Amino acid sequence: MSSYCEAVRNLPLDNLHRQHHDTEHGFKAKNDDDLFRRLILEINQAGLSFDIVLKKKEQIYKEFSSIKKTARYANKDINRLINNPSIIRNKLKIRAIIFNAIKILEIQDKYGSFKSWLDSYYPQSKENWINLFKKTFKFTGPEIVNEFLMGTCYLPGAHTSSCKFYTQNSAKKVAQKVI
Ligand SMILES: [Zn+2]
Repeated sequence: MSSYCEAVRNLPLDNLHRQHHDTEHGFKAKNDDDLFRRLILEINQAGLSFDIVLKKKEQIYKEFSSIKKTARYANKDINRLINNPSIIRNKLKIRAIIFNAIKILEIQDKYGSFKSWLDSYYPQSKENWINLFKKTFKFTGPEIVNEFLMGTCYLPGAHTSSCKFYTQNSAKKVAQKVI
């Protein structure tokens, strides 16, 4: 992802990649629902081009707008989602996203918030993060975990040092803290 900064630099301001890079990628999440949406965006991307996912991002964020709402999705909701061409229609991914929402509700109950749970492990090596996610969530392979944690400032590397967002989003601080 290190060349993403260069790739979007000269794109128009309303380009989906430019917008994602300038406003979300490598910026700390606003709250638990925001963290959740960022995680499921990465899950949705697995095996697909980022372009496809970004085009559907708004609708994906709408369908899975909150952890609570997603955790309550039953079979009839899964059927509705599978038939919604505006999102990624993959049953395995949808079931994993619902499973993860239920898991995060448990985490919120125990740790106060999803963010507090993540903070309690920060900083630690990428390998340890990958193991933690593997034993906690579904459909969170190494690439997904890496992209999610980079994108939310728990791992360094979201922006290159020549990018204007490098210092603004504390990526430099992250890089220094992680061994
Ligand atoms: Zn950048």
